[in-house]
Amino acid sequence: MIFNILTLFPESFQGYMDTSILGKVIEKKIISVNLVNIRDFAYDKHRKCDDSPYGGGPGMVLKPEPLSGAIESLGKGPRRVIYLTPAGKLYNQQYAEALAKEKELVLICGKYEGIDQRIIDQYVTDEISIGDYVLSSGEIAAKVIIDSVSRLVSGVIKEESLLEESFNRGILEYPQYTRPQVFNGREVPEILITGHHANIQEWRLKKGIEKTLKNRPDLLDRVDLDENIKEYLNNITGGQSNGPNKSDRS
Ligand code: SAM
Repeated sequence: MIFNILTLFPESFQGYMDTSILGKVIEKKIISVNLVNIRDFAYDKHRKCDDSPYGGGPGMVLKPEPLSGAIESLGKGPRRVIYLTPAGKLYNQQYAEALAKEKELVLICGKYEGIDQRIIDQYVTDEISIGDYVLSSGEIAAKVIIDSVSRLVSGVIKEESLLEESFNRGILEYPQYTRPQVFNGREVPEILITGHHANIQEWRLKKGIEKTLKNRPDLLDRVDLDENIKEYLNNITGGQSNGPNKSDRS
């Protein structure tokens, strides 16, 4: 998988690429990150990449020519070209799974008030927001995409680690414990030290469902939940599959 990152701040990716799991998989050539400095494609004498918005208003907008030059420098696709923007579609695990099937992605990191709309119209296939808040530039959002997508690429993380992770079955992951067995008077649940695999699996499933009901009941609105999840949910909610207190959601 190749990530082409179009950014005004390529240096901001360096520490992240050296220290995370990503560093190892880049070394193994499973993932490759191609940093493209947008400013290298600004041809005026001041290498200017931003200008004030037509129609007035505050802030600056990333000019189309340097961005177009940076995208064209990658050669012909086809490839998905993602613009990271708070005005995009909300990113989630299913989106990450879809992107992980691609061989190559282009991620455009915006800055200031964003990028000229004509770049979106001409090149962008996906406008993605990583959450309902506004960051000051797209680099952190790009790292979120690189991280969440690359751990789904074959060979990056053990398949079994992914199976029970949050969102994988439509619910959140069960609580995790490690040594010591007693910490500040709090004991590890007894079932986890019985060695009884089937009972532990069942306990984990129930705890995952309970956690989802408490923290993310919206996830339980999905119709494609496993039968055993639906059954347990029905038992604890008295048949209201998405939880007894819809109005309590925050
Ligand atoms: N004026 C824009 C708006 O209101 O939609 C916000 C621009 S923001 C200050 C600057 C850049 O940060 C954006 O172009 C985008 O690349 C990035 N960014 C900010 N919030 C983001 C989010 N929630 N998801 C993805 N990218 C984001």
